[in-house]
Amino acid sequence: MSQKIMGVKASTGIAIGKVFLLANPELEIKMTPIEEPLAEIKRFQVALEKAKADLQGIAQHVEAEMGPDKVDIFKAHLLVLEDPELVDSVQSKIEQERVNAESALNEVASGFILVFEQMDNEYMKERAADIRDVTKRVMSYLLGVEFATPANLTEEVIIVAEDLTPSDTAQLDRRYVKGFVTDIGGRTSHSAIMARSLEIPAVVGTRDITRVARSSSTIILDGHEGIVILDPSEEEIAAYQRKKADDDAQKAELVKLVQQKTVTSDDHHVELAANIGSPQDLVGVLTNGAEGVGLFRTEFLYMGRDQFPTEEEQFQAYKQVLEQMEGKPVVIRTLDIGGDKHLSYLDMPEELNPFLGFRAIRLCLDNQDLFRTQLRALLLASVFGNLKIMFPMIATLEEFQQAKAILVEEKKGLQESGVAVSEQIEVGIMIEIPAAAMMADQLADEVDFFSIGTNDLIQYTMAADRMNERVAYLYQPYHPAVLRMIHLVIKAAHAKGKWVGMCGEMAGDPIAIPILLGMGLDEFSMSAASILPARKLLGRMSREEAAKHTNTVLTMSSSKQVEEFVRRTFEPINN
Ligand code: PEP
Ligand code: MG
Repeated sequence: MSQKIMGVKASTGIAIGKVFLLANPELEIKMTPIEEPLAEIKRFQVALEKAKADLQGIAQHVEAEMGPDKVDIFKAHLLVLEDPELVDSVQSKIEQERVNAESALNEVASGFILVFEQMDNEYMKERAADIRDVTKRVMSYLLGVEFATPANLTEEVIIVAEDLTPSDTAQLDRRYVKGFVTDIGGRTSHSAIMARSLEIPAVVGTRDITRVARSSSTIILDGHEGIVILDPSEEEIAAYQRKKADDDAQKAELVKLVQQKTVTSDDHHVELAANIGSPQDLVGVLTNGAEGVGLFRTEFLYMGRDQFPTEEEQFQAYKQVLEQMEGKPVVIRTLDIGGDKHLSYLDMPEELNPFLGFRAIRLCLDNQDLFRTQLRALLLASVFGNLKIMFPMIATLEEFQQAKAILVEEKKGLQESGVAVSEQIEVGIMIEIPAAAMMADQLADEVDFFSIGTNDLIQYTMAADRMNERVAYLYQPYHPAVLRMIHLVIKAAHAKGKWVGMCGEMAGDPIAIPILLGMGLDEFSMSAASILPARKLLGRMSREEAAKHTNTVLTMSSSKQVEEFVRRTFEPINN
């Protein structure tokens, strides 16, 4: 019997394939006496070498696919395996106590883990996780148990996991991974954002898929509807094969729009830009015909490694993006860490409400060295394209003024030392805190542009954590409270002659697009896969017509009313 499971639609598309359970089996380790310690040490060394070869392979693969900045974590794992303190302690335990390699390794590693875990510092605590990961890998060879890793795939699969960490996603091979399903997460969680930038279908937040899915069984994943079907019937498979063929046909149709500009039926040009997390995402941006990059989330350059990226490393990444976009606008956002995004090597206090805490610009203004390094890298790269710098999580005018003053200081410093810096850099802010939205008229006097970050703006307006499934019903993009806020921001910017974009997920949503067009939004920035469908949709709409409905939706009383109204009014266009 097939089993249907609902989740959150994280990335569109349909996939049919075999389950790859990315859950590591609990390893059972027993202590047994041994007769020949030398042979046992040899067995340990062989397992060690196999684990090392695995890690080297993963590091090479990640470097080739994702770039050199993503390999640090695997290099750190390799260092653990080469650490003489660990290796020698295991070997002498085998020799002196005449016990099997599994139990010797288990005892030694547990000792190390305990020491690291008790340290106060976050970075050291992460080392405990490294040792646990690496010993598990060696142990799996000693016990002859297969270790699940997405890096060694040789056939097409759909990954089923509790969640995917940044290092899991860094290893995903698009040739074999046709989709993924997770227990936890929402539409704006890290794994969902990654799935969209990799353009693979995904459903997240199913709560218990890992408990019910069996390795190698057949699974259907419908990323359009957020549905997963385990052990589907022949009929279900055939129906989804047809849906997938329709999808593919539609995609082929959309490809014709790649080279075109986005123009409404009444001849208004709007800019359709892409959200990226690293220079590697540019492939999708270019193949989908984006007219710019509307959001480069630079925090991904800082994640999945064990130290801060240097000024030079950052400069190279920014330069690459600017050059490849060949003069098209590129909005690069300064570091937005905190909330649900952490750096293992940056000690951050535990917070009760991290989304209301020490994150993004707040953290950067407090850690100026970190901020200045990034700003210098951006300024140095500015001469290679059309750079716009954006500060995240601005709540007050003073925060913007402070950040801008630091930028100006760094620019002056570079110019005084004879370095060329572009004079055309626009400096803008994200509007994602209700206070900033309400003060948009005053902020508009000082900034060059706004980009509305609805992922956060919705959670702060509705007081509903974007990661919390239990309050997900309150996360309502079409709620008039949210729409009024957006309208206010667009009007305030236009009154001062400034442009406004949107880089939250809402910008790519076909229900939201007619409303946003009507309000006069200038730039829509979204995951690359949404660009062509949005271009098609916008090409069929008249901005003037859409504008006539703005007041109607703003005076409605619920999200449901707005959604029904848009579906009714724009139905012929949306189909
Ligand atoms: C947003 O808040 O809408 C946004 C684009 O930023 P992030 O999702 O990275 O917080
Ligand atoms: Mg945000």
